[in-house]
Order: sequence, then structure tokens, then C-alpha cells
Amino acid sequence: MTEVPADHPRHDSLVTRHRIEEGVDRGITSRQGLIAQGRGEAFDYLLGERTIESADAAARVAAAHLLSARHPVLSVNGNVAALCSAEMVDLADAVGADLEVNLFGRTDERVRAIAEHLREHGAREVKGLAGDARIPNLSHERAKVDSDGIYDADVVLVPLEDGDRAEALGEMNKIEIVIDLNPLSRSAQVAAVPIIDNIIRAVPTIARHARELRDSGADLDALISGFDPHAARSAAERAIRGSTDDDSSRSPF
Ligand code: ATP
Repeated sequence: MTEVPADHPRHDSLVTRHRIEEGVDRGITSRQGLIAQGRGEAFDYLLGERTIESADAAARVAAAHLLSARHPVLSVNGNVAALCSAEMVDLADAVGADLEVNLFGRTDERVRAIAEHLREHGAREVKGLAGDARIPNLSHERAKVDSDGIYDADVVLVPLEDGDRAEALGEMNKIEIVIDLNPLSRSAQVAAVPIIDNIIRAVPTIARHARELRDSGADLDALISGFDPHAARSAAERAIRGSTDDDSSRSPF
């Protein structure tokens, strides 16, 4: 990987971009993943490449859902694997969740490559290889999930997900936590908990909140019932438009 000087003003963004390039070279990330990355970068630039207060609050509620779940599952696609495998493994440990590889453009080869990559980053068990159940109302390959994984889950974290699949999962009455930098994307719109933040910041934030909530014995139900997803999306949109009361330290316009 090309060395990016630590004091480069776009350091984090460039490192992230290189990780996606590397993911494509290793057969983990699809070429469409490059387009998704570009779209994400644009929104992150407008947000000021920081975690806004409303996203931090949403991450805390996400942690509460994952801790209270009967069967939480963290869904991993090619961009997620390239960007934050170690962090996803750590979050799975923190909340006792399964990790499942779940791809829009599923090929068995890519599912295996991602599962292997997760194991190299400390995962013990990775689901997604069986693909023996289906999400209703989706075409064949996109619908495949594991019967003892996402199919059975009550709470699912689906970062950087395509809108159709996010919608179809929601229709299965699962509580969906979405990480997406675009507050207007369909996935963010259908999520019970939309976290409008870069995944490389959001996943460690959820894990930190989860450990803190668990250790402090906080009232998880109160946290969950006090959350308003619409308000979280609106706060992010205001921050992006630069007319924010949600810490307006950097106006993009
Ligand atoms: P939808 O169907 O939900 O409207 P979409 O068609 O835009 O979404 P994709 O093209 O798959 O879906 O884009 C993936 C989404 O992931 C985009 O909304 C993009 O902003 C977001 N995204 C990309 N990279 C990141 C990242 N690093 N962190 C968070 N979100 C990201």
C-alpha cells in the first residue's frame, strides 16, 4: 500500500480508499464497491469527516439493541470486510453477535475469501457459507442467507447495504441497524436505527458504547424507546447542508 503521510490533510480518507483498492485486488470487494466508496466519501466530506453528536447517540442505541437481542447478527459485505474486519470482529465479541458474510453480488468464491479475511482478523466462526435460507421478495442470489444466521436473527447490523435488501430484511420484522453516510439512502430510511457516519468510525463507537453500557448496567429499554430515527436522519441532513445545530464546527458551504 502507498504510504500516506500522517500529516496529510486527507490522511484518513486516502487510507480508506487504499483499503478498498486492496480489497478489490484481493477479490474481497467488488468493482461496484469502488463506486459505493466514492459516494460515501462525498457525504463524509460534507459531514466534515467526523462523528456528529446524533450519530454517536444512534450508535449508543444500536449497542443497546445488540446487547438486548436474542440473536444479534452483524452482516459483512465486501466493503465492510476491506474497511474494518478487525473492528467488526471486536464488536461481535463485545455484544455476543454472529458475523455473517452477505453479498449483493454473491459468488461462493467471494464469500469464502471474505470469511477467510475475517478469520485472519480474529473471527472464530463466520456464517454465510451455507446460504440455505432466503429473504422473501428478493431475486435469487441476493436473497441467500444462513438459516441459523441472518434468517433467525432478531437484530441485524447491515452496514453499507443496498436499499432493496434493507427493505426486505425490515419486512421480516427484524430490527435493522444501518450504517450509511447518506441519510437519504433507502437503507437509512428503513432502518430502526440509522447511524449516519463512516463505518470506520461507527463500528468502534458502537463497541465502546456496548462495553460501557454492559459494565454500567444501564437501562437499555429506556435508551431504545427514547430513540427517534427520523430525528437522527434529519440532524445528519442538517449537518450535511451546513445549517446544523448538531455541532456546526465546520460548515461545508
Ligand atoms: P440505497 O439503495 O439504499 O439508496 P445505494 O443505491 O446508494 O443505496 P450503494 O450504491 O450500494 O447503495 O451505496 C452504498 C451506500 O453506502 C451509499 O449510501 C454510501 O453513501 C454508503 N457508504 C459508502 N462507503 C461508506 C462508508 N465507509 N461508511 C458509511 N457509509 C458508506
